[in-house]
Amino acid sequence: MAPDRQPLEVRRLSHDVIMVREADHREAVTFYLVVGSREVAVIDTGLGGGDLRGLVDRFSISRPLVLQTHLHWDHIGASRCFSDVRAHPAEMRLPRVGWPWEPPAEPEAGDGADRPERERWAPGAGLRITGSLHHGDQIDLGGRSLEVIHTPGHSPGSASFLDRAARALFSGDLCYLGQMLLFVPASDLTDVRGSLQTLADLAGEVDAIYPAHGPAPLGGADVLAIRDAFEMVWHGKGPDWHGSYEGHRVAIHDFRRFAFLTPPA
Ligand SMILES: [Zn+2]
Ligand SMILES: [Zn+2]
Repeated sequence: MAPDRQPLEVRRLSHDVIMVREADHREAVTFYLVVGSREVAVIDTGLGGGDLRGLVDRFSISRPLVLQTHLHWDHIGASRCFSDVRAHPAEMRLPRVGWPWEPPAEPEAGDGADRPERERWAPGAGLRITGSLHHGDQIDLGGRSLEVIHTPGHSPGSASFLDRAARALFSGDLCYLGQMLLFVPASDLTDVRGSLQTLADLAGEVDAIYPAHGPAPLGGADVLAIRDAFEMVWHGKGPDWHGSYEGHRVAIHDFRRFAFLTPPA
């Protein structure tokens, strides 16, 4: 077997779910392979720093199908290496909403060591979305299926994927233990509230919630805690302080294990 030439950490979980992380990167982007007998769902593709396509081909002979939780730059990096890439239609307007949340253009020649990290990764270059995901779609992978749940808020076309048989939910950037970014262009706090409630309603039906950042998996109690905290913010609990995130001024609602970063009032 060829040696790994990329910093991908791979962990086999139960129910033929494989967790992949780009090692040593501060974003701690996490993505997942859900292996069926006919197709393998690749739920996001990270920053594109490693040979994800080679990894997928090693783990499964099934046809790869990329399901995007959303199209932010840190989730689409290796999507160009796959021929079947699907996203929610509401996400398609994202490339027009502005840097740093839009995929960057094709990188310049050279190693680009003097350019910002995002441009060196060039996650959006060559991205082609070939299919749509709609709320309620059942994606049959052969022997198992994933249900698409539209969970907008962090971005308008954010989607989660529910494997009812495996009691697992893949929740993207909606909900994790870390700084949840709810100030980015096209994010919507009303939608966040509704989507966190959607996840809370599913908490009793799943044993594991797999987020795209931070520790994984989460349990139902984590999701309920995040939902309850957001309700406090929604009902007027003020921010703990104001700060900046990559040059954006944000209000920070700090709940110790996680925080909401919202637009300043
Ligand atoms: Zn995101
Ligand atoms: Zn992200």
